[in-house]
Amino acid sequence: MNIDWQTKLYFLIGDPVEKTLSPKLQNFIFKDGGTNSLYMAFKVEDKDLEKAIDGFRAINVGGFNVTIPHKQKVMKYLDEISDEAKAIGAVNTVNNVNGKLIGYNTDGPGLVQSMKNECVNIKDKNILILGAGGAGLGVSYAIGLEEPNSITIANRTLEKGEKLKYSLEKYFNFEVKLMDLSLKGLDKGNIDIVINTTSVGMYPKEDEKPISLQSFRNGIVVYDIIYKPLKTKLIEEAEGKSCKTFNGVDMLLAQGIMGQKIWRGEEISKDSIRKLYDIF
Ligand code: NAP
Repeated sequence: MNIDWQTKLYFLIGDPVEKTLSPKLQNFIFKDGGTNSLYMAFKVEDKDLEKAIDGFRAINVGGFNVTIPHKQKVMKYLDEISDEAKAIGAVNTVNNVNGKLIGYNTDGPGLVQSMKNECVNIKDKNILILGAGGAGLGVSYAIGLEEPNSITIANRTLEKGEKLKYSLEKYFNFEVKLMDLSLKGLDKGNIDIVINTTSVGMYPKEDEKPISLQSFRNGIVVYDIIYKPLKTKLIEEAEGKSCKTFNGVDMLLAQGIMGQKIWRGEEISKDSIRKLYDIF
């Protein structure tokens, strides 16, 4: 790589970031497109978030991504927030436009795009979304835009789920239900698509599962947005029930491509996208 004083810098900040695939993904796109840019991941603890953003402003970065646990808290340090990110209440992509930091959320659109790529229909379906954190918020909103019949949110902490339920009901007319991860009272046979947005099952706790798929129908769609490991315990169980399964890589690629469009203002070439899917 030809790094010089003009190299545009992009970052991922979160805690933990050890297993992220984003640097591999973004640097591939920069290199393949001949763009003089570099992407790096840094662990930033909660107490240092504001200082990290100040540093980004000081060195005039091109932009950055935000992951666990900063997606909501970062919003107060930005200058503008896109309508979608505002509705969701979480930001995962920030663009620097002449010193102004503008926040977006590509989590949900990335997931929906990857489902569309595989011809999964969301309209009129009954969706169970596990988790109400940053990713859960983005995914629920993007799924909502596809006009499902109902969304059931299941989250360990009900107060967080309440907030998400309230905001979905504000934007959409379909039925929104809320419960904890015991799924007590859920008509499991009626669920068409299960989406795990919790971090349960993620490295280093790969042996854990957010729910059991027992009593769900065989052959439904099960999406686990975790990509470390590629095959979580939830996906293993889903495969045993002949479900159509997705892991987090598809979502990661789709939203990485969306992030590049936000930063560079242009689509990346179809040729680059094809090579990217070959690599991952
Ligand atoms: P977050 O804001 O910290 O939210 C974490 C979620 O997981 C919350 O719903 C939390 O429930 C739940 N959770 C955590 N530990 C739990 C436990 N022991 N038992 C039950 N629930 C638990 O994180 P996030 O940004 O939404 O990310 C969540 C996951 O999505 C991570 O694994 C991340 O890697 C993955 N992700 C993947 C992509 C992709 O492109 N594939 C993109 C974004 C995120 P409480 O509300 O009760 O705390």
